[in-house]
Amino acid sequence: MSHESGNSSEVSSARARGRIVGVPKRCWCGELVIPLMSNSKANPYRRYFCCAFAAEKRLSNDNHSYKWVDEALLDKVESLSFRIGRLEQSMVDGRVEEERYAQEEKRKFEELGLKLETEIAARMEDVVNEAKGKVKKALVLVVLGCLAMVVLAKVV
Ligand SMILES: [Zn+2]
Repeated sequence: MSHESGNSSEVSSARARGRIVGVPKRCWCGELVIPLMSNSKANPYRRYFCCAFAAEKRLSNDNHSYKWVDEALLDKVESLSFRIGRLEQSMVDGRVEEERYAQEEKRKFEELGLKLETEIAARMEDVVNEAKGKVKKALVLVVLGCLAMVVLAKVV
């Protein structure tokens, strides 16, 4: 790829490619982006990221990657805080979902408990009825036995 500036349309597309969000790692030309310090009068000691090729060739006003470190870091902080915001939102959503699930489980559990109670009550009734039946039979037997004894006593 040629590093010389082409016609104006190429330059503008290259500028667009050179615009990087956050901390740039590589220039669009494939070269690494390196941190340097400005010694211009307008920005003395201000640190900047620059395409290694452009820095080596001492190109100025070229279309290789170039970004002030403070601006790049500010970008990074903004994108990080955006991501943190999204994470927080997803955590809140997760908690709401969890709460809903717990409520559903509780409802199911209570329903099961109620069902068990009714079932137990029904069984108890069965058992009580059965016992009553047995007691009745036993009573009948006792009465019959008594009658038989009375009859026998009279006979004897
Ligand atoms: Zn470059």
